[in-house]
Amino acid sequence: MTNDLPHPIAALKPKRETFTGNRALDIEEPLLFEIGRAEISGVDMEEPEDFRPRLGGHERKAELNLPALSEPEAMRHYVRLSQKNYAIDMGIYPLGSCTMKHNPRLNEAMARLPGFADIHPLQPVSTVQGALELIHECGRYLCTLTGMHSVAMSPKAGAHGELCGMMSIKAALKARGEDRRVVLVPESAHGTNPATAALLGFKVVAVPAREDGTVAAEAVREVMAAHEGEVAAIMLTNPNTCGLFETDIVEIAEAVHEAGGYFYCDGANFNAILGKVRPGDLGVDAMHINLHKTFSTPHGGGGPGAGPTVLSEALAPYAPLPLIEKTEAGYRLVETDEAASDDPFGRMTAFHGQMGMFVRAFAWMLSHGADGMRQAAEDAVLNANYVRARLADVMTLPYPDHPSMHEVLFDEHFLEGTGVATLDFAKAMIDEGFHPMTVYFPLVVHGAMLIEPTESESRASLDLFVAALRDLVFAAKRGDKERFTEAPRFAPRRRLDETGAARKPVLRWTAPGPEEQAEAAE
Ligand SMILES: *Cc1c(COP(=O)(O)O)cnc(C)c1O
Repeated sequence: MTNDLPHPIAALKPKRETFTGNRALDIEEPLLFEIGRAEISGVDMEEPEDFRPRLGGHERKAELNLPALSEPEAMRHYVRLSQKNYAIDMGIYPLGSCTMKHNPRLNEAMARLPGFADIHPLQPVSTVQGALELIHECGRYLCTLTGMHSVAMSPKAGAHGELCGMMSIKAALKARGEDRRVVLVPESAHGTNPATAALLGFKVVAVPAREDGTVAAEAVREVMAAHEGEVAAIMLTNPNTCGLFETDIVEIAEAVHEAGGYFYCDGANFNAILGKVRPGDLGVDAMHINLHKTFSTPHGGGGPGAGPTVLSEALAPYAPLPLIEKTEAGYRLVETDEAASDDPFGRMTAFHGQMGMFVRAFAWMLSHGADGMRQAAEDAVLNANYVRARLADVMTLPYPDHPSMHEVLFDEHFLEGTGVATLDFAKAMIDEGFHPMTVYFPLVVHGAMLIEPTESESRASLDLFVAALRDLVFAAKRGDKERFTEAPRFAPRRRLDETGAARKPVLRWTAPGPEEQAEAAE
C-alpha cells in the first residue's frame, strides 16, 4: 500500500524539465528519511518463540522510526551525495588562506598501514613504539623547519594550536608572577586570532595596518606605549592574510620582547616560506602549523586538521601534556604533571593528536625532502604571482607595490559601475566549474577576492582558470549582468540563504503531513 506514495523527489517540485527532475548525471537526492521507509526492515529473522525480554520493562514501546533501505539504495544515496561535493580531486580549489593542495596518494597508502591505522591510544606503550617514533620524528622535522626549540603535537586544528600557544604564554606569564591582560592583533588577522585571545580572558587591542597592507613596527610601539606593562603578546600572521610578507617582523619581535611580551605567529601561511625562512630566526615564541594546509593533509570535508604548535626555548617548559619523550629504552609517554620534568600548563587533548594526519604529513616531508619542500614553497609563490600577472590588467590590486607571496588579493574596484558585486562574481565562477576564491576576507579590503592556487596546479590548469576569469571580467564590463546576478545557473541549487542557514539552521527533519503528501501527488 505504501507503494502508492509518490517518490519523494516529486515533492521537491523543481521546475521539471525531465520526468524525474534529474538532469542527466545531476541526480536529485532526497534525505535518507524521505527515501527510506520505517515499515521496511532489512532483518528477516523470525520472532523467537517464548521470547521474554530481560530488560526489566525498559524495552522500547514506540516504533523506532528509522528509515530502512536495501544495501544498494543506501549505497547509492551516499555516493550521489558525495558526487555533489566539489573537491581538490575534481579541480582547482583556489580558496585563499585555506591552502587546498593536492594530498599525494602515497600519503594515503602510508596512513592505511595497519601499524598506524589499527592501533588504539590505550594500547601498552611497548606495542606502539613505531607510531610514537613517527610522531616524535614528525615533531623534530617541524622544529628543524621552523628553527624552534620544541613542539606540542596534540592540537587538532589551527585554532586549537593558537589556543595551545596562547595558553603556554599565559602559563609563562603566571610563572613570572605577571598578570598581563592585553593581546595585540592586527586588523587584517584571521578571526581565530582575536577569538583565541578573548577566550583566554585577554583584552584584544587592534593594531592598524599601513597603507601598503603590512604592520609597521612603529604602530606596534605606539599601541604598546598606551598599554605599558600590560602587553602579554602580539599575534601576527606572516605572510599576512593579504598575502604579503611582513617586512618589519624582526623589529616588531624585538619591540614586543623589550616590552616584556611574547610573539605569537599565526603559521597557517607557513607554506609560502617553508624551507626559505625559519620563524625562530625572526624572534617568534610560539606558532601553530596547519599540517592540513602546508603539509598537504586533507581538510574541510576531506578529513580532520592537525595544528602542532612549535615553541621557543622560553615557552618550551610550558608545553601541554601529553608529551612523547625519547629515552635509552625507547619512546615513553609523559601523561601527568608528576612525570614531566618541566611545568606543563595542563592537558591539551585526551590522547596524542591526529595520528593519520601525522603519517600523511611525515610521508609528504620524506617524499619531498629538504629541496622538494623548498621548491613547493617557491612554486606556490610562483603560481600566485603568475595568476596575479595574468589578471592584473583586468582586475584591481589593493596593494600593487608589494609582490604577493603564496596568494594574491584583488579588490572590487574593477567591477565598479557594472552592477556586479564580488559575491556575484564568485557565484558565476561556479557555473564555469570552479570553486570560487575566498571572498570578503580579509575584512580590511573592500570586496576582497583572495586567490591561492598552491603549488599543485600546473601551468595548463592555471591558464584555463585565468582565461575563465578574464572572460567573466569582460562579460561584466560588457553589461552582461544576468550572467552574474542569476548565477549559479547550472548548479543543483541556486543561491542559498546562507545567513539563514548559519543563524537559523534547520537540523531536524519532520515527516510531511497528509496534506503535503496529497499536494506532492498531484
Ligand atoms: C586556516 C587558518 C587558521 C585556522 O586554522 P584551522 O585549522 O581552520 O582552525 C588560522 N589563521 C589563518 C591565517 C588561517 O589561514
